[in-house]
Amino acid sequence: MSLLSERILNMSTSATLAMAAKARELRGEGKDIIGLSLGEPDFNTPDFIKEAAIQAINDGYNSYTPVDGYVELKEAIITKFKRDNGLTYTLPQIVVSTGAKQCLANIAAVMLNAGDEVILPCPYWVSYSDIVKLNDGIPVEVKSSIDTDFKMTAAQLEAAITPKTKMIWFSSPCNPSGSIYSKEELRALADVLSKHPNIYVVSDEIYEHINYVGGHASMAQFDDMYDRTITVNGVSKAFAMTGWRVGYIGAPEKIARACNKMQGQITSGTNCIAQRAVITALNASPSRVQYMIDEFKVRRDLVLNLLNDIEGFKTNTPEGAFYVFPDVSYYFGKTLKGKTINNATDFSLYLLEEALVATVTGDAFGNPNCIRISYAASQEQIIEAIKRIKEAVS
Ligand code: PMP
Ligand code: GLU
Repeated sequence: MSLLSERILNMSTSATLAMAAKARELRGEGKDIIGLSLGEPDFNTPDFIKEAAIQAINDGYNSYTPVDGYVELKEAIITKFKRDNGLTYTLPQIVVSTGAKQCLANIAAVMLNAGDEVILPCPYWVSYSDIVKLNDGIPVEVKSSIDTDFKMTAAQLEAAITPKTKMIWFSSPCNPSGSIYSKEELRALADVLSKHPNIYVVSDEIYEHINYVGGHASMAQFDDMYDRTITVNGVSKAFAMTGWRVGYIGAPEKIARACNKMQGQITSGTNCIAQRAVITALNASPSRVQYMIDEFKVRRDLVLNLLNDIEGFKTNTPEGAFYVFPDVSYYFGKTLKGKTINNATDFSLYLLEEALVATVTGDAFGNPNCIRISYAASQEQIIEAIKRIKEAVS
């Protein structure tokens, strides 16, 4: 009998976290690695949020929390959904979890049966595929390329649907492409789904505020999609709170109750101090974190300008999030400094070894022609990193 389960043996390690760990390890060996692999704001959590956490400790918040979150936090989430998205949810429709990642894991665990298909427009966020597989679901990748700004069209969705299709998972703004689905584009997808009333949508909106073009649209805003959409969001990105581990969903009540039940057996409620801090974060106007978004936009433009100057890097213009996802297939089959580059993984490893810059291979996101570069790093680091990349490939 094997020590470890087939479940874990069949799972891939998260490529984003693996690359971050590798960068940390090399740094520990004294190498001057610039980490552009992790999607983690380099800003500090805003002081007004930190103060709320300190206050919570001093006020004696230390006990187990309600499994689905403090009522005050769920009310703040309801207010946020109304204020920012025009979405109306009630208390039993909200579940607070330990990061949006746990929200996604809950959804898969409570909704998938063996053999259910989940459509993943590529490129998708790295963990979607393994969370689906962990729950015996079958990821169905819908390929796209830079030519369509990495977005799935209605016709592609239609073609991917089978009698086994249970859900579609996507993020907008998208990690890793930075693409944003407009309201019209979402409507076109919804029109296809209107012919398939049993298919549910997981709309991951964690990058909602990191939007450089304005006009965030949510699938649940369409009346005919509201009862079939689970809206996932969290505070890691816009509020620079990755380590605090708070995410949440607004969902049809049956699904929310099931997530609550699931969480009650595996983790219980989210950390009490973090939850109190998030009440303050969500009740604040999003304008309080606009300074970070303004800076991300400057960095996006900087990265695009610098990459455009390197042969063989083809980029779209990301409209949100903090990643660029250049197509680097130009280098496949070429030999750089004696090393043959066969694919994006080779290329990403080459950049780590030769340029001392950590990126993530596009394979992890379902697109083998690209690499992901996170620009949640200082302008100085970005300039130095891309200078090194340019030298390494020239
Ligand atoms: N969805 C997407 C698209 C992400 O990029 C991430 C990365 N953090 C998550 C979900 C998970 O976020 P959290 O930190 O809230 O678990
Ligand atoms: N979501 C971030 C990323 O894509 C954080 C890492 C992770 O949770 O996988 O880099």
